[in-house]
Amino acid sequence: MNDEERIVSVKAMADELCEESDLRPKFLDQYVGQELLKRNLSIAIRAARARGQALDHVLLHGFPGLGKTTLAYIIAHEMEANIKVTSGPVIERPGDLAAILTSLQEGDVLFIDEIHRLSHVVEEILYPAMEDFQLDLIIGQGPGARSVKMNLPRFTLVGATTRTGLLSPPLRDRFGVILRLDFYAPEELVTIINRSARLLNIPADEAGVLELGHRSRGTPRIANRLLKRVRDFAEVEGDGRVTAAIAGAALDMLAVDKLGLDDMDRRILLTIIDKFQGGPIGVETLATAVCEEKNTLEDVYEPFLIQSGFLVRTPRGRMATLTAYEHFGRPYNPQGAVTRDNPNQRLFE
Ligand code: ADP
Repeated sequence: MNDEERIVSVKAMADELCEESDLRPKFLDQYVGQELLKRNLSIAIRAARARGQALDHVLLHGFPGLGKTTLAYIIAHEMEANIKVTSGPVIERPGDLAAILTSLQEGDVLFIDEIHRLSHVVEEILYPAMEDFQLDLIIGQGPGARSVKMNLPRFTLVGATTRTGLLSPPLRDRFGVILRLDFYAPEELVTIINRSARLLNIPADEAGVLELGHRSRGTPRIANRLLKRVRDFAEVEGDGRVTAAIAGAALDMLAVDKLGLDDMDRRILLTIIDKFQGGPIGVETLATAVCEEKNTLEDVYEPFLIQSGFLVRTPRGRMATLTAYEHFGRPYNPQGAVTRDNPNQRLFE
């Protein structure tokens, strides 16, 4: 199955893009969770505003669906600035970036999603633009080529990436504020789901929202999506109210279990446990065994399984944890399993 087809996919589905923007909080104090990040960002914003200057360039890194785009819009709102939104893969040539940069006004926010996917030549244009608010373009080719320099207005670049490690060091070093987004606790997701339910006029009781919070994989995008799917179920199978029983039945039907694992997650973990005695198993072998590409396995499936303590990456390969054995009711296998207290115990045997 394609990641985009999964009900727990972290990427926004095509029909969600519009509704997502309605659900986005506009100001920092409406943004749930990420407390340390909010404190740091709030200080940077207040200081820049007090000085009457544009905010330093901000790099946001975190798994998809955790709220990076939302934060970029919040930064623009809080700075009372306009925002231009684009993404790394869309900016193909230096000229594309030059056109965007020259259209900016003083104080504007430029949001580049997936900034790690900018090509090297485009990135080179960004360095002087970020550092000195200068555009350096080479026009033409060969002996007739000439360099053009232009001053740019002082703007704030907000870049988003899934991992800072994907960024080239010169680009990373040009961000003054680097902020990491973490997965959300179920209680934080409860606050987000309650807010979305209010905005979408979905009647939901406390237990129903809590059930959703636990099954949303620490990710607001998934929480909002599951809320809407459960609403459909509640309208057809119940009286329209999202209760614990309705949420449980709807999500069981969508094959999202009590901790948010779907079929593919279960296949990955059970393959390690049942076929490879809990691991360690090399990522290539695991990818072949579950019929998935190595990169997809690493970037799409593993982060949540690692974060929630089902899987560990070791230098010798992937291993299922005691938590995974317990979740599937499999007898603990001392050959392969690692303990929760010491996930690295087998590394140094
Ligand atoms: P990303 O850019 O990291 O993929 P988005 O900013 O598009 O994620 O967020 C996805 C959805 O989750 C949005 O609709 C937004 O409303 C919601 N969301 C994300 N973070 C929060 C938050 N901290 N509080 C409330 N809603 C959030």
